[in-house]
Amino acid sequence: MSAYQPVIGLEIHAVLETRTKMFCACPVVGSAHQPPNAAVCPVCAGLPGTLPVANRMAVEYALRVALALECQVARTSLFARKSYFYPDLPKGYQISQYDQPLAQDGRIAIHTSQGEQVVRIRRVHLEEDTGKLTHLDEDGAAATLVDLNRAGVPLLEIVSEPDLHSPEAVRAYAVAIHSLLRYLGVNSGDLEKGLFRIEPNISLRPEGRAEFGTRVEVKNLNSFRSLERAVAYEIQRQAARLDSGQPVVQQTLGWDDARGITLPQRSKEDAEDYRYFPEPDLPPLVISEEWLEAVRAGLPELPHARAARFRRQYGLSAYDAGVLTAEKAAADYYEALAAAAPAKAAANWLTGEVFAWLNGHGASIQEFPLPPAALAELVHLAEAGEITPNTARAVLAEMLATGQGAAEIVAAKDLRLVADPARIAAWAEQALAEHPEQVAAYQGGKSGLKQFFFGQAMRLSGGRAQPRALEDELARRLDKIED
Ligand code: ADP
Ligand code: MG
Ligand code: ZN
Repeated sequence: MSAYQPVIGLEIHAVLETRTKMFCACPVVGSAHQPPNAAVCPVCAGLPGTLPVANRMAVEYALRVALALECQVARTSLFARKSYFYPDLPKGYQISQYDQPLAQDGRIAIHTSQGEQVVRIRRVHLEEDTGKLTHLDEDGAAATLVDLNRAGVPLLEIVSEPDLHSPEAVRAYAVAIHSLLRYLGVNSGDLEKGLFRIEPNISLRPEGRAEFGTRVEVKNLNSFRSLERAVAYEIQRQAARLDSGQPVVQQTLGWDDARGITLPQRSKEDAEDYRYFPEPDLPPLVISEEWLEAVRAGLPELPHARAARFRRQYGLSAYDAGVLTAEKAAADYYEALAAAAPAKAAANWLTGEVFAWLNGHGASIQEFPLPPAALAELVHLAEAGEITPNTARAVLAEMLATGQGAAEIVAAKDLRLVADPARIAAWAEQALAEHPEQVAAYQGGKSGLKQFFFGQAMRLSGGRAQPRALEDELARRLDKIED
């Protein structure tokens, strides 16, 4: 196969979690539990004679993202009509932004195995979502149901420059944007429900060539894993075509996750097909200096800065700091835990046992049953050497199963390690007394038998002897015998 450089740019659509829709007062219903067409009014149903009014909160959310991405925010931007005909679009056009978007020219840093990379953001703009279609085939009679609950829900589109060159970088970029939107509190982050949609544009060019190749756009990706797989697949597919002298056809593709392949959806529209023109029913969107500054002042600490602070403040590795700050809720949990337990041990427990539990249960940190204070109690017992690491893990399982506290379980099951010199001495004495032949062998020079005595004494203690104390006691006694 010849050497090609993959060139990839992403379009990300994120549903803004505002209370009401983009241009009307209908509620935004993120869940599928709402009955169809329960949140619809004449505006979002596209009835003639109605007028849209822009949602101030949606604009504010968009400003948060634009500022966090270090974009140039336009003091005046325009809404535009993007026309196409499809039953999920009641007006026959979507209100979007076109040649004068809210924000342009931003950047975000991502981390891959190749190190840090800055990805340029081309634009950030506001638009509205479409309705949802359900295709039925009842008794052979095809029918399509239209649900307009989603029609008019605010969407933020974030378009990157084609700065990405590998599936790994594409994933890192999508994860970084996802994390950022969660930190900013503007998006639920739910890929499976279609509230965060990722569309990669992928092309190849011969290594060293400046000019871009023909690209395809892939839709229907509902996980970061499918994103990475779809991009890797497209790179292979396009390389094979180019190698065999066939051109790449510019088109929109769907991703079939079960088969692990992309499939043609439709040939690509050009901008002319949409007949964009300024939306006559909405005034230009004007952002005052004061508003922009107020939004800037209200921005929370962002993932990148928080990871840097975690390294400084808690002495964490870059890796741990990155893992712990990727999700705002996990970072919040960590800080609460680290306030009550040693920071490094807190990080180990969270990235180890807790994340494993979450993975195993397909749960998020918000669903983890133990509050930080409860886990801190266990971390303290383990760190102080009061229980063994194995016992600590068993106690965690018990806490999760019963809701009991760590100290309570340790006390009830008598799991605390014993360091009391009299009891340690008794176990050591008994172990030696029960094995006179081995003691004799030890005296004869078989120093390896120390391990054996340790094991015997530990067994007598039921595994509860404090290991260092027992080791010392045995050594003292055996050395005395040697003298
Ligand atoms: P549209 O898809 O609406 O025509 P653009 O042309 O602005 O919009 O591009 C959309 C996305 O495609 C952007 O993220 C951009 O970086 C990316 N892109 C543009 N050209 C290429 C290319 N040749 N290869 C890969 N990605 C590209
Ligand atoms: Mg596109
Ligand atoms: Zn409405």
